[in-house]
Amino acid sequence: MIDIKSFVKKEVKELKPYHIENTPCRIKLDAMENPYPLSEALMKKVVEGIKGIKINRYPDPLASRLKDIISLHVKTPVDNIIIGNGSDELIQLILTAFGGHGDRVLLPIPTFSMYGIIAMSLSLMPEGVSLGKNWALPLDKFLSNMERIKPKVIFISYPNNPTGNSFDKESILKVLEKTTGIVVIDEAYYDFSRKTFLPYLKECKNLIILRTLSKIGMAGLRVGYLMADKEICQELNKVRLPYNSNALSQEISSIILENRTEIQKQIGAIISERDKLMEGLKEIEGIEPYPSETNFILFKVDRNSKEVFDRLSDNGILIRNFGNDNYLKDCLRVTIGTPEENNEFLDTIRKL
Ligand code: PMP
Repeated sequence: MIDIKSFVKKEVKELKPYHIENTPCRIKLDAMENPYPLSEALMKKVVEGIKGIKINRYPDPLASRLKDIISLHVKTPVDNIIIGNGSDELIQLILTAFGGHGDRVLLPIPTFSMYGIIAMSLSLMPEGVSLGKNWALPLDKFLSNMERIKPKVIFISYPNNPTGNSFDKESILKVLEKTTGIVVIDEAYYDFSRKTFLPYLKECKNLIILRTLSKIGMAGLRVGYLMADKEICQELNKVRLPYNSNALSQEISSIILENRTEIQKQIGAIISERDKLMEGLKEIEGIEPYPSETNFILFKVDRNSKEVFDRLSDNGILIRNFGNDNYLKDCLRVTIGTPEENNEFLDTIRKL
């Protein structure tokens, strides 16, 4: 008999897969997606664009058109940009290129779990530093850990998923200044926070900035991008798979980004709904919502969070339960939906 487990490397054996809830639901508020569909007019342009794609041919390996559009928007040369099949893939690319077996990766805890999962799958060793009060980055502790383990790569989600806050900018600059490794600032929620380390890209040769189109309406396309020094991009391009960005995703995201005003309006609506939802949650006894600069809100409940999750789920509303996480006891995360969805969520949770 073949024992599959005997082939699996130790680090992978220890891993748990990334949690994705697959429960059918009426109102989906679990995955930080943009709840708004494209307008009919823009969808028409997308359909026209798709007609021109030659799917019998490989896609443009450099994703040149998409890169040009992004380059113009972020005012960063194309040589400093790499497109990924979602920013997840870029995290994998970074950890494939920088650091080898047993090298250390430093992260705050709690943070986006894929940093640790990918690090372990590539035989790197993630080390977490737990966040302080109000989910602040404990700078001294972070720096002393950095000094001790000399990480090859440091991940900072800015703002942080799942806590929703942005760490202190000066603290992050200190990390950038003191480390001898690569610092990845993951700005997945940039469109909702408008805070960025992009101005530091020129002076900080070890800085990588990650962004994604997933949170602003294109999660299904799987498009992320990173910005970094040209030399970093050259190294990363050596390990990037040649056709990592497919033709449909390149075409559709290019068309949507060329019509950015529509997306921008949706982002504005999400931000104002977030602030309303925050006020609504604050008024409910037994709920403590944490400030958010993203398109989601983390909140703590005064009872077992699974109970709240299940009751919402019984009503067709799916959010994310973090009750089993040591650092997020009795916490849940709700993604900002449409006004109707948010109201129904609030009404349901009020009744609990
Ligand atoms: N970074 C952070 C901080 C995230 O929260 C997420 C999505 N949950 C990602 C990266 C991955 O995004 P993508 O869909 O681009 O792979």
